[in-house]
Amino acid sequence: MSAQRLDGKACAAAVEEELLERINSLQSNGIEPHLAVIIVGDDPASHVYVNSKVRTCKRLGIRSTHLELPRDTSEEVLKQHILDMNSQEDLHGILIQSPLPSHVNEEALTDLIDPSKDVDGFHPSNLGRIVQGRLDGMIPCTPAGVMRMLKWADIDLSGKKAVVIGRSFNVGMTQALLLAAKGADATVTIVHSRTQNPRDECKDADLVVAAVGRPEMVQSDWIKPGAVVVDVGINRVDDATRERGWRLAGDVCADVSDVASWLSPVPGGVGPMTIAMLMENTVRSAELRMQ
Ligand code: NAP
Repeated sequence: MSAQRLDGKACAAAVEEELLERINSLQSNGIEPHLAVIIVGDDPASHVYVNSKVRTCKRLGIRSTHLELPRDTSEEVLKQHILDMNSQEDLHGILIQSPLPSHVNEEALTDLIDPSKDVDGFHPSNLGRIVQGRLDGMIPCTPAGVMRMLKWADIDLSGKKAVVIGRSFNVGMTQALLLAAKGADATVTIVHSRTQNPRDECKDADLVVAAVGRPEMVQSDWIKPGAVVVDVGINRVDDATRERGWRLAGDVCADVSDVASWLSPVPGGVGPMTIAMLMENTVRSAELRMQ
């Protein structure tokens, strides 16, 4: 058996179709959705991510402002940029591209963003709303993208056993909350670096979401036959057979496809959904201004 492909690219295209209608409606009310992306320093991977966000904005008719700052920019200067953006009426989303240089306190910057413009969903008030079961705010894009993809594939989670590997606030922990929330109704276990036997935790799960950052950690003998597996991981691994000397790998081994009923590919799975959810959060923020 080969697992069905949980095709994030196709699902993201469907989300974009929907967004185009909402953007048209905003535009006919004189509102142009506008996203600002702040990038500090010259981390090549960050520039690749930012470029792909800017390209998606362009495709959808979302205005984007790309603020590129040198590596030695002080925290004070960054704070001032955020405060200026908070007060800019025609700006609806503010995103700070991670990672920031070590002299900058990322949390202090996130705390300053107006929660209604916090399209990454990392502000404590947006994260706190999720704990309260209020899912109408800005939800972090990666876990929101996973939920949307599961819904799109018509995968019922109610009463099912789900395991999330990873407990970062931006992915794993929020993912666990969303899966356990009313409406999704899964029974969730969180696996982290201190978990004694991750394989045993996964073995009887109906859904495994891997968000670890360890290439191909999840093996086929971790997975119950017919389970759904979502691979959030994006890892660069050396590969001498490729001209560029590396390839992208997820957190899940390819042979999981022989056991699972659904498996999301890397690339082309969660990645495109993360960007689609960022666009949706930006559009939602613009719609809030219209009300
Ligand atoms: P992170 O902040 O480094 O968190 C990794 C989590 O994995 C931590 O909770 C850690 O546990 C846990 N972990 C590490 N080693 C483990 C092990 N051996 N067994 C069990 N758990 C272990 O990373 P992240 O930001 O959540 O990202 C995770 C992965 O997703 C990365 O590959 C990242 O590139 C990818 N990602 C992809 C997208 C996308 O759009 N597709 C978006 C965001 C992230 P502790 O808490 O105990 O340290």
